[in-house]
Amino acid sequence: MKILRTVKELENIAETHKNEGKTVGLVPTMGALHEGHISLVKKSKADNDITIVSIFVNPTQFNNANDLATYPRTEEEDIRKLVEQGVDYVFIPAVHEVYPEPDKRIFPLGHVAEVMEGAMRPGHFNGVAQIVSKLFAWSQPTKAYFGEKDFQQIAVIKQMMRLENFNFQIVECPIVREEDGLAKSSRNVRLSPQARSIAPRIHEVLEQSKQWKEQGATPAQITEKVTALLNKEPLLKTEYYEIVNSQTLSTINNWNEAYMPEGAYPIGCIAIFCDDVRLIDNIKYN
Ligand code: AMP
Repeated sequence: MKILRTVKELENIAETHKNEGKTVGLVPTMGALHEGHISLVKKSKADNDITIVSIFVNPTQFNNANDLATYPRTEEEDIRKLVEQGVDYVFIPAVHEVYPEPDKRIFPLGHVAEVMEGAMRPGHFNGVAQIVSKLFAWSQPTKAYFGEKDFQQIAVIKQMMRLENFNFQIVECPIVREEDGLAKSSRNVRLSPQARSIAPRIHEVLEQSKQWKEQGATPAQITEKVTALLNKEPLLKTEYYEIVNSQTLSTINNWNEAYMPEGAYPIGCIAIFCDDVRLIDNIKYN
């Protein structure tokens, strides 16, 4: 595996492989790699001739200085895991390499970036659009791989691609969970033992809520019950739980609203504080 530290190196290898007619899979990450990230890497390896993983803790998508400062960084371990997977290239740039000057671009991302995470983390998705558009332009992938754990992020990236005329496939990969159901996340290492022991309750309640739908509950009733049940637990504090249309990300009032346009389905998205660590997760009601 070759380690690339500069944009020039990344552009050069992308150009070379493109000229050779090779397919290139890109897996953007912020490092502190776990099995969720590795599932994306495996999919890219299976689909493409060449796989590029990027590791960059992008400062412009953090709206909380402490979150940025405490974000786990485990470069050596990450490199070892990627070598083990047979990844071809890892791009690990310094901040000044990515942003030689401040990125002032504002992306008109619209509704999908204004609700849920967009409402709670102002500027977050614009920062995501900034970094992902740069990575796409530099690496010119055949396909790029993202996890459904960050469900809203995928919708935002697709919107950025429409704005910037990127025409390739985004591959959406299912959420990888711990055995007890907690969605794997780089932030899980920040959970205290007590918080870690209560955190699986999040997925448990979301999973349970699918049955309430079967029993006739409305989206609003489920939203209320999920929030109440989780907030009853010590250390858990729901920031939002919203059942939305998977494509428009609009909150639905009845289940029928979730099935248009074609291919859409209802999905519940949660952001929840587990002690002082903010976690996100989601569940599909289809
Ligand atoms: P991050 O390093 O948190 O920015 O995540 C990089 C990519 O890995 C994103 O596309 C995430 O959605 C994806 N990812 C993170 N955690 C998981 C998980 N538990 N299951 C599947 N994909 C994940």
